[in-house]
Amino acid sequence: RKRVFSGIQPTADSFHVGNYLGAIRQWVPLQETHETIYCVVDLHAITIEQDPKLLRQRTRIAAAQLLAAGIDPARSILFVQSHVPEHAQLAWVLTCMTGFGEASRMTQFKDKSGKQGAANTNVGLFTYPMLMAADVLLYNADAVPVGEDQRQHLELTRDLAQRFNGRYGDYFTVPDPYIIEAVGKITDLQDPGAKMSKSASSPNGIIELLDDPKVSAKKIRSAVTDTEREIRYDEENKAGVSNLLSIYSALDGRTIPELEQAYEGKGYGDLKKDLAELFTEFVTPFRERTHAILAEPDKLDAVLAEGAAKARTIAARTLAEVYDRTGFLPAA
Ligand code: ATP
Ligand code: MG
Repeated sequence: RKRVFSGIQPTADSFHVGNYLGAIRQWVPLQETHETIYCVVDLHAITIEQDPKLLRQRTRIAAAQLLAAGIDPARSILFVQSHVPEHAQLAWVLTCMTGFGEASRMTQFKDKSGKQGAANTNVGLFTYPMLMAADVLLYNADAVPVGEDQRQHLELTRDLAQRFNGRYGDYFTVPDPYIIEAVGKITDLQDPGAKMSKSASSPNGIIELLDDPKVSAKKIRSAVTDTEREIRYDEENKAGVSNLLSIYSALDGRTIPELEQAYEGKGYGDLKKDLAELFTEFVTPFRERTHAILAEPDKLDAVLAEGAAKARTIAARTLAEVYDRTGFLPAA
């Protein structure tokens, strides 16, 4: 079986619909066909300042949402990144193999550091892609299901794998991105040019899975559209409507042309109202499952401990091999 790895940051009280459609929804069926390893990446989360108490709480909430979405610990390894120290250890080796210029070209760093200003940007945000490369390469993953925004980081991961293999002999699997184009970039409801983001979107721009569905419905109804009336997919000129159609199609199963036809002669208000209903229907059982899982934190922690133990056996083997090839003297 080929292996899949992916991760998500515990940087908010809830995942948003972009996280779900762009990434997590793909994680579930991959369990049938692949060996799957999924991680709540708390080490990545502290590249932006986090409140310790909240971070701990959000890590559990993130894991609970993954379980509620259908990640099955009997079939997947589900764990928390900081429980497996090899991630940070391999990241250092990869950091020392990354050019400063090459890291400087990462658009996520430019975006996030630009928003915060240089004075508030820590070096971890800059080395984030090397930690992500370590996450993937530790498990020799073949494929990484992510949103479009992570394509460039995966490109770097591939380069680092090839560089290591070239320098020290073939060892790492060079991973492929697994990105579904139709849902790879769900955009902000208030700013349809920007991706929906846990830490950067305004409250009205983001549809959170754990929010009261009434609140989400209101946000959908007030999503930015355009001054035309026609319901038509056109990313360039009708980014807002196109985004709503993408979300609608992903949740409903009908294709975008089918939806365009169904809404011929109808208004944006109709589309929004129906999408709000569809979203409520989808999210209601998801929220119930998440809350039920969170009501038993000991059980949840035990699932994560078991996942970490499984992940560590793989990660330790990889790190030992990397250390050896790098030329580190083994501890006697
Ligand atoms: P943050 O703002 O803290 O970076 P985020 O919303 O970008 O949060 P991440 O935890 O960084 O979420 O990413 C988790 C997964 O969700 C990744 O695979 C990422 O590519 C995907 N993803 C994030 N935002 C979107 C989006 N708007 N559309 C599709 N996929 C997305
Ligand atoms: Mg992100």
